[in-house]
Amino acid sequence: MALASTSTLAAGTTDSRAPVQAEQAGTALGNFYQVLDRHLGPQHWWPAETRFEVIVGAILTQSTAWSNVERAIANLRQARLLSPEALSRAPLRRIERLVRPSGYYRQKARKLKAFLRFLNAEFGGSLDRMFRQPTAELRERLLGVHGIGPETADSILLYAGGHPIFVIDAYTRRILARHGLADANVGYEQAQELFHGQLPRQTEIFNQYHALLVETGKRWCRPREARCQECPLGRFLEREP
Ligand code: SF4
Repeated sequence: MALASTSTLAAGTTDSRAPVQAEQAGTALGNFYQVLDRHLGPQHWWPAETRFEVIVGAILTQSTAWSNVERAIANLRQARLLSPEALSRAPLRRIERLVRPSGYYRQKARKLKAFLRFLNAEFGGSLDRMFRQPTAELRERLLGVHGIGPETADSILLYAGGHPIFVIDAYTRRILARHGLADANVGYEQAQELFHGQLPRQTEIFNQYHALLVETGKRWCRPREARCQECPLGRFLEREP
């Protein structure tokens, strides 16, 4: 399978699609990307107006559907709390009430406060300063914040900070496992290494690719039903002889 069809798109343009280079030809994940990118087009992730909104969404989306997160974020926006300064000043109980639609609202309000304490203490409340840290170093520090695990940390790094790091989630694991590329219980870092090893380390590609996998998981690769006949990745499944 040739990998040239997306190569006219240059990284850094407003189009989020990005080329997978020739050296990635022949890798399963390079081929998946090319086919999904062509089939689904630009995904324009993350759905948010600001970097801080991405961070809030990444924390609130844990263990819930995105539609619930949208309602919580709409509440925060209406209350004019979608900035680090405003949310830092807001009482915990008020945040709990506003993020209630996202579920586990007490825990999530505490996680938001924990992130804000970290941002204020370590970087004087500046997202610019925070995101200027080297990727690996900032990742380690984010993982030390209450309520931030690998998926949340990497979502923040990639989608809010523009750091080239791949986000692994349940959709990704399911697709990898169903194509025999990883065990169903593959560890987070191990799955991430597959992508880092087979793709150019470019923010635009990681941004678009993760979004494409989420869309694939929602449309076709569902937990109890894999619609492989309709799915663009069906051609990559091993056929019976
Ligand atoms: S639906 Fe089938 S072809 Fe599509 S990603 Fe899942 S296992 Fe692969």
